[in-house]
Amino acid sequence: NVELADTAKIPRYVRVNTSQWTIGEAIASYISLGFDLSGPFPSNKGFAQDDHIPNLLLFNPDHQFHDDACYKSGKIILQDKASCFPAHILAPPASDRSVVIDATAAPGNKTSHLSALMQNKGKLFAFERDKKRFSTLNMMLARAACKNVETVNADFLTIEPTNPKYAATTHILLDPSCSGSGIVNRLDYLLEAENDESTDQERLNKLSVFQLKMIKHAMKFPRVQKIVYSTCSVHAAENEHVVCQALKSDEAQRNHFKLALKSQVLPSWHRRGLSEEVDIGVDSSSLIRCNPGEDATNGFFVSCFVRMDANDSIED
Ligand code: SAM
Repeated sequence: NVELADTAKIPRYVRVNTSQWTIGEAIASYISLGFDLSGPFPSNKGFAQDDHIPNLLLFNPDHQFHDDACYKSGKIILQDKASCFPAHILAPPASDRSVVIDATAAPGNKTSHLSALMQNKGKLFAFERDKKRFSTLNMMLARAACKNVETVNADFLTIEPTNPKYAATTHILLDPSCSGSGIVNRLDYLLEAENDESTDQERLNKLSVFQLKMIKHAMKFPRVQKIVYSTCSVHAAENEHVVCQALKSDEAQRNHFKLALKSQVLPSWHRRGLSEEVDIGVDSSSLIRCNPGEDATNGFFVSCFVRMDANDSIED
């Protein structure tokens, strides 16, 4: 289990919201406020650019941003590094014809990231089934100045994949509810993670059944080419095992979904899926893991499914 001390080793990650300004403008602004690019440790006034995620800055964990004008206006988003991986890996195209779904969106950090990557072009549907969390989502997206997002207060599983409104979707982000066992930098989640030793298998089973259902539903969208599935869990039952079951499902077989190659899934990241937890023939190096306490992030898992015939036709 994670220790409270681990939280101190995690820099404060700040994603520059490129829907409002550029990384260069953000860096110049923080330098003008007395910060310097000497790295987040040990100085309270040091910061750096991230090695893996474009437009992500690292500050000292002691620095508080809640009164920062850029935070209040949505020019920066406080978002853990690992939680920036899914949108970066999904890499939705920035085109007026793009149609993308964020199936489980609130509070909306990954939605605003996707919107920025799409340069606010095309259409991004953001589903959230919980009413209260749906209001938070709308508030966060308004603050981030996302213009291409249509939020929908609905259960993604009830959305008919052939509905003409959504049938042109090519990219889906799935970041569904999970045990949260990887979260270290928030005390409430930390306590939950500590209790996880006694996590009852039934809860994990229930979550993994739901997670698998979500992936299989996403695979039914007729034009979808790429699906990124992520969790902030460290349990193989919600990660590698769900991915292996999804690959064996009728939906994957019928629609020719495979795991994306490692070269398409942040290859520069060192920690990959657990080889002992995947079926024979599944390449665990295509999967990403982040270990709390070791990787200066929360515990996290990312996988990416691609439709082979769609990919083949791209190469033709
Ligand atoms: N991606 C979000 C972000 O980065 O800010 C965090 C998503 S959180 C892990 C999962 C969210 O999915 C919760 O807000 C939950 O209410 C919502 N959710 C769970 N099942 C859903 C479903 N079937 N359809 C739509 N939303 C769902």
